[in-house]
Amino acid sequence: MVEVEPVQVDAKNQSIGIDLGIETFAVMSNGDKAISPNYSKLDKKIRRKQRKLARQSKDSKRRNKTRIQTAKLHNRIADTRKDFLHKLSTKVVSENQAIVLEDLNISGMVKNRKLSRAISLQGWREFRTLCEAKSVKLGRDFRVISRWEPTSQTCSECGYRWGKLDLKVRKVQCLNCGSEHDRDENAAKNIKKVGIGHCHDSKRTQRQSKTISVASVIEVSSVSPRL
Ligand SMILES: [Zn+2]
Repeated sequence: MVEVEPVQVDAKNQSIGIDLGIETFAVMSNGDKAISPNYSKLDKKIRRKQRKLARQSKDSKRRNKTRIQTAKLHNRIADTRKDFLHKLSTKVVSENQAIVLEDLNISGMVKNRKLSRAISLQGWREFRTLCEAKSVKLGRDFRVISRWEPTSQTCSECGYRWGKLDLKVRKVQCLNCGSEHDRDENAAKNIKKVGIGHCHDSKRTQRQSKTISVASVIEVSSVSPRL
């Protein structure tokens, strides 16, 4: 695994909003997308081994072998994920002065068994932790907005609220201003807006106060000399 340390440079962009998902790991407010590695092959192998384990008699040599193989597969997935999340968080934090994420109800989602395996594989929580730590190191502004913000229900162009969309709907055309949006990119743009505080109306302004600034700007001089 290659550790990529963030480099202390001025961010080339002011801010970015990031929408995390399962199909696409991250969609950014500037339209960039990050696809996560495909874990499904390894995950399938793990599930097969686990079924095998359940059948094997306790304390047998074969069972022990299967157990070690399973652990190795788990490590491989974890390494691949860690590598991906490190590289992505380094890129995002290096390039942007303010980074805005949405607070996801991960534990609530993980209770949904269908989703839980996919969500755990993605590593959203890890990604947030990495972005936060790197933001502190580089003196970036890291923000998390409330998950109750209607980021996928609102036009990022004009602020019109079209309401809940079915998950299948990937493209939206705003009834008010006519602009067309990719669902996730529109959400990412709204995440950025809410986090940075560009508001469309007074309701927005009130909600904005709920924004939590997790890592505030740090003087460069206080950053460790290693950078
Ligand atoms: Zn609109």
